[in-house]
Amino acid sequence: MAIILKSRREMEMMRRAGQVVAAVLSKLKQEAKAGVSTASLDATARRITEEAGAIPLFLGVPNPYGGRPFPGAICASVNEQLVHGIPSPKVILKDGDLISVDFGAKLNGYCGDAAFTLGIGAVNARHQKLMDVTQAMLQMAVEQMAPGMKWSRIAAEMEACAREAGFSVVRDYVGHGIGREMHEEPKVPNFVSRELLREDIVLKEGMVLAVEPMVNMGRSAVRTLKDGWTVVPRDGRHSAHFEHTIAVVEGGCEVLTG
Ligand code: MG
Repeated sequence: MAIILKSRREMEMMRRAGQVVAAVLSKLKQEAKAGVSTASLDATARRITEEAGAIPLFLGVPNPYGGRPFPGAICASVNEQLVHGIPSPKVILKDGDLISVDFGAKLNGYCGDAAFTLGIGAVNARHQKLMDVTQAMLQMAVEQMAPGMKWSRIAAEMEACAREAGFSVVRDYVGHGIGREMHEEPKVPNFVSRELLREDIVLKEGMVLAVEPMVNMGRSAVRTLKDGWTVVPRDGRHSAHFEHTIAVVEGGCEVLTG
């Protein structure tokens, strides 16, 4: 497993890419309202990315099942959809929906990747709790990531946080190293896997990780819809997803997509 460590200068390059991602997501949080389509959010993301001179990372990603490449700049996943939802003019947000937006951009050769889940209008209290818990899990990572820390300790706390709320952590999708490529080593699970215990990630200055807890209200099992992309929990209950690109620095970490 070769983890590519980043220099201070490279982290600054990644922060600039991260700022484009943050600008897009912050604008989409304002725009995501009842009556707005996910295609319109996608159009906004493309415009801001282009104006910044950056490239959207997800657009054109080859389909792992041999289907069509990903057609959007953002992944827009509504309600029970967990990740990789395809933006569409037919998907119109309505009051009470949860929308997860995942977005990555490359600027001057370096990548940033982040995601949020947001409630539209008034949402069910249990759905709000699902979002709060998932966001708190990401925050746990931000508070504890530092050189010398074992990732399994953080992952164990994240998993416990979801379980205590009666939710489950998705096991089929995990976070990842990020740098010049969107997906680099290592895999960063939000739970303690046997693989992680065998080969733990000891955090080191210069590591940059995309940490992305994905939590289901019901059971953890997921499946991919016939469109070849959209991932949903098998039990059809709601899910949430938050992500930041985080650099491990001396004494702690820095969120590059904040
Ligand atoms: Mg990611």
